[in-house]
Amino acid sequence: MKKTEILSSPVPRLIDRYRRHLNYLRVSITDRCDLRCLYCKPDGLIPKLSHEDVLTYEEILRLIRIAVSLGITKVRITGGEPLVRQGVCDFLSQLCRIDGITDVSLTTNGFQLAKYLPRLKDAGVHRLNISLDTLDPEKYRKITGVDGFRQVWSAIELARELGFSPIKINAVALKGYNDDELVDMARLSISQPFHIRFIEYMPIGTANMRKGDYLHTADIKRRLAELGPLLPVKRGTLDGPAERFRFAGAEGEVGFISAMSNHFCDACNRLRLSASGKLRSCLMSDKQKDLRPVLRQGGSDEDLVRVFLASVHAKPARHHLTDPKGTRVNSQMSSIGG
Ligand code: SAM
Repeated sequence: MKKTEILSSPVPRLIDRYRRHLNYLRVSITDRCDLRCLYCKPDGLIPKLSHEDVLTYEEILRLIRIAVSLGITKVRITGGEPLVRQGVCDFLSQLCRIDGITDVSLTTNGFQLAKYLPRLKDAGVHRLNISLDTLDPEKYRKITGVDGFRQVWSAIELARELGFSPIKINAVALKGYNDDELVDMARLSISQPFHIRFIEYMPIGTANMRKGDYLHTADIKRRLAELGPLLPVKRGTLDGPAERFRFAGAEGEVGFISAMSNHFCDACNRLRLSASGKLRSCLMSDKQKDLRPVLRQGGSDEDLVRVFLASVHAKPARHHLTDPKGTRVNSQMSSIGG
């Protein structure tokens, strides 16, 4: 579809040049985080965004309303760590009341989650992704730099008691750190209703991981074979790129996000908004459009719509991280939000 065609369409929608309909917006509300995960934290000092650089909640809500008018129905709030930003529960409750959004979810490291759970529930957030790469408190400290495993685990248990569903547990599979625990993590899905998501490490930003430090989905699946066959789960309307499975009789699921070994770009339905107002149509490309100057220089909704459409028009067919001469992605994962 030509850009002029998209702009002149009576009801502009977020459809890219490859006919992918984008209906999923991931919004990072802060670049700050209370953990220093070794695969995510920048190597060296990267200046944090200043207070003025970060979009206000009002600005974010305005952009989300515009995105919804263009066809976004799913919104995930992420960071940095979203729960370190003041006022996050009030923001979420306003977000959940926007007409046209059918799904609001939150990605968190879980470290401060327990105290927020009742308010998140009242706000209308039911779907949680909690990042947890290990079940071993000492390894947790090594991976995240913080002695926080028990705190996160208690939050996960409380979330289950309070009825949050689904509770997805995101684990980046790393050789020498948690590869001896992948079976134990997957086993959790048998007795508990958790969705354990194994994520392939993506070499983004300046995190100091070496090639060979991470595992591909095929390796992980081989290791899980001792728990029995992985039975495919029928895909649902809210499904993302994860391949979903269940062990026979299990309460929960296991899933695999194979961005490196089996990219899912053909089915990518995502746009990302950073805390400073950059709109990014591909996680693995540094090309982004800046909404903040338009917002702050009195731009109209139509002006902002134009930036959304231009970003969608620029969405690449696929990422090139795995090409032999693939480009580097310089932005930090902690600023994009995953
Ligand atoms: N602070 C929140 C959290 O920890 O979930 C949200 C932001 S974090 C960037 C979102 C997700 O990205 C986490 O599940 C994290 O494990 C994952 N992540 C971070 N860096 C990654 C990388 N280089 N490759 C793959 N996943 C990564």
